[in-house]
Amino acid sequence: MFALVLVVCLIASPILEARVEPTHGFDVFSQDEEIQLGQQSAAEVMKQMPVLPDSEPVVEYVQSLGAKLAQHAPGYKWPYNFHVVNVKEINAFALPGGAIFVNLGTIQAADNEAQLAGVMAHEISHVVQRHGTRAASKQMAAQLPLAILGGLMGNSTLAKAAELGISFGVGSYFLKNSRQSESEADLLGTDIMYDSGYQPQQMAVFFEKLEKQMGGGASALMNQFLSDHPNPGNRAEAVSHEVKTLPTRTYLADSREFGEIKARVAGMKPLTSAQVAAMQKQGGTPSVGPTAGDVTPSANLKVFSHNEYQISYPDNWQVFGDQSSNVTIAPRSGVSQNAVAYGVMIANYQPEDSGASLDTATHELLASLRQSNPDLKQIGHDETIRVNGVAGKSVDLIGSSPIKDAQGKPQEERDWVVTVQRKDGTVLYLVFISPDKDFGSMRPTFEAMLRTLQVR
Ligand SMILES: [Zn+2]
Repeated sequence: MFALVLVVCLIASPILEARVEPTHGFDVFSQDEEIQLGQQSAAEVMKQMPVLPDSEPVVEYVQSLGAKLAQHAPGYKWPYNFHVVNVKEINAFALPGGAIFVNLGTIQAADNEAQLAGVMAHEISHVVQRHGTRAASKQMAAQLPLAILGGLMGNSTLAKAAELGISFGVGSYFLKNSRQSESEADLLGTDIMYDSGYQPQQMAVFFEKLEKQMGGGASALMNQFLSDHPNPGNRAEAVSHEVKTLPTRTYLADSREFGEIKARVAGMKPLTSAQVAAMQKQGGTPSVGPTAGDVTPSANLKVFSHNEYQISYPDNWQVFGDQSSNVTIAPRSGVSQNAVAYGVMIANYQPEDSGASLDTATHELLASLRQSNPDLKQIGHDETIRVNGVAGKSVDLIGSSPIKDAQGKPQEERDWVVTVQRKDGTVLYLVFISPDKDFGSMRPTFEAMLRTLQVR
């Protein structure tokens, strides 16, 4: 019996030694100040970003996964809390003191639970290491004479930070991490994942996937994460090296909840960063839910001119997005944090075969729309139409609307899809969206808009 205990101790002690210890550095903020600062910044983020409500099942899931990981975070016990931002771009960020925000696009892009856990463990590690306030402290030290800085180590640090314009809100410079911070977060994250039962290498696999997709020129969706969390080099190797210092163990398979959440997020339509930026500019809070009262289109039309097309729209509606992105034209209250309830989305579709007919391209497009919205069903046949002399197709779909009825059940939504051939072989498509019950009253406006469409 005694011998057995001894053996366990012999195995157990190197495990403790192998863990990466959090580093400490110059920080003018006390832990309480850091928490206070983080809470102020979190309140600002909540106002400016479309943060999903805690009652959303995806958020509940992320919070429970986060709590599991945070249990294994070393160092000071920060009050960790987790949020999901309804944005398409793959990104995540951590505020000082423990508030962690994960974009919905990150969950959509994770191939398995360990990859999502990896992103979150990495963010938790930035909190453990106090990377934000340490970077801010460095800047304050550069700006303030030492005597004043010394005097700050007391009650006026937060006021002084505010005076110097140091903040951790949306787009803050201090949320962009250095390569040094990145490699620290990777290593601590590796231990947190290991201790929580998730295969640490999946963190590096996910980061490398983002890089490969970016290298392939695939998308701007990927580079936001990498710009905030730059690759310190040899990520996978560093993680594997750290794992080798730990005993071999078996890792958790994906939970049933993860499968359910993946299916759920596949059907969600997060906003693009460009759409969020446009809403912020127009002073709107992107978290306002759609209300059916004030979406009525004005009869006066206004022209929107895009590099690829021109279209007129009711002058009391707004254009979200710009030249470089997909565009949504909608009444302000027809767009919520979850989706577009009323309005039109306009985008370009590149068929797999560049010589594809409009018919083939349209069917391909419909298949991909259905892939992300599995409950979409086609009503009737698709029709061949002409839009200002250009060949087009018209298809009616029905799915579920983000607007709920009095019983809390989602209403039916009509999606009228129009595709138009472009000279370069791509297809311009428009999705006119409205709850089914209002489609009859919205259709004349949609048709009036379509009649003004000119494809370049
Ligand atoms: Zn990072």
